[in-house]
Amino acid sequence: MKLVGAGYAVPHWPEQWPGGGRSLAEQKVIYEELARADSPRLLLSFVSTYHAASTLMECGSDEQRARYLPAILRGETWCQGFSEPGAGSDLAAIKTKAELRGDHYVVSGQKVWSTMAQYADKCLLLVRTSSDGPKQAGITFLLMDMKAKGVSVRPINQIQGDEEFCEIFLDDVEVPVSDRVGEEGKGWVVAQTTLSSERGLTLMELSYRMKGALNRAADLIRQNKRQDDVGVLREFGKLVTQVDAACAIADKFLENRIGGVERIGDASIVKNSYSSALRAYAAFGVNVGGIEEQYRAPITFGDLNTGNWMADFMNSYAWTIAGGSEEVQRNIIAERMLEMPREPKSWVL
Ligand SMILES: Cc1cc2nc3c(=O)[nH]c(=O)nc-3n(C[C@H](O)[C@H](O)[C@H](O)COP(=O)(O)OP(=O)(O)OC[C@H]3O[C@@H](n4cnc5c(N)ncnc54)[C@H](O)[C@@H]3O)c2cc1C
Repeated sequence: MKLVGAGYAVPHWPEQWPGGGRSLAEQKVIYEELARADSPRLLLSFVSTYHAASTLMECGSDEQRARYLPAILRGETWCQGFSEPGAGSDLAAIKTKAELRGDHYVVSGQKVWSTMAQYADKCLLLVRTSSDGPKQAGITFLLMDMKAKGVSVRPINQIQGDEEFCEIFLDDVEVPVSDRVGEEGKGWVVAQTTLSSERGLTLMELSYRMKGALNRAADLIRQNKRQDDVGVLREFGKLVTQVDAACAIADKFLENRIGGVERIGDASIVKNSYSSALRAYAAFGVNVGGIEEQYRAPITFGDLNTGNWMADFMNSYAWTIAGGSEEVQRNIIAERMLEMPREPKSWVL
């Protein structure tokens, strides 16, 4: 709330919102300064301020924007209910069904890997409203109240002991038609906006946080008295360049998005450059820190920079999958951006 009050929480929002309408240069400075101050990451609000807000701004109705955006600024938390047990990379295979009955949809099915769903007030929900025609054509995008009757959430315990994401079970949940984003059967296009925000905007902030965290890697070299180790210094040099490149790629993405010239595949490039740099960062820490580092700090949840290099190393692999796997992003870049021949079986993301 302090960031909202100071006008720094949503620099990427349009200017009619408090703190919004910042130039690219201002957004970069805000992200850099937050990283430099090592401010806690807004873990509970990244889905709401990035994914949900961008979706509503680009595809929602005026009434939906007026209803939900002020609530997001007040701290309402959202989760994303896209993936299902049989639909991840092949997201268009979702089976969660919604049937229109009067002025509301009745939704039944199951979602999985929904980040922070146990704390969420609302959910960006992809449902199937028709099984006729191409898979994508029968998908509709709804905004679901997580406290609605018939919604139950089961957190998934991870290897580090955290419960970052959850399964969501939906049993005849009623969602008003006024909470549908776009037209019925046109949810696939809306979902692309959400995914682009996840791969691009969220990772812009995280790229800058990783840049700030390079200080931690430099401290580790000093603590372990490896300042004269040419191999370590060479690796560190490579890491700095890789992280800088990830930030520059994220900058370019934002510039294109602000300028309205975002291309298919731009967000996939941000995603893959961030996730490979993050893995290199965490692997560097584990290599230089050695076995002792594994016991230095308690394992706690976070994307990076928990103070425990082993936890950061394990977490770094989450981003090879979250927001769409690296392999699938490479397919998007190859087939849809560079127009290379498609693989025989289309996985359409
Ligand atoms: C940390 C984290 C947070 C997440 N948060 C959310 C969330 O909040 N909401 C949500 O809805 N989902 C979320 N997800 C789910 C995520 O979007 C899916 O895990 C992802 O899309 C992959 O789907 P899958 O797990 O079903 O794997 P699968 O689709 O089964 O893929 C398995 C493997 O096969 C590979 N593969 C699949 N298809 C191809 C292909 N065509 N070519 C080459 N390789 C291929 C993949 O790269 C992967 O390595 C999250 C995941 C993680 C790890």
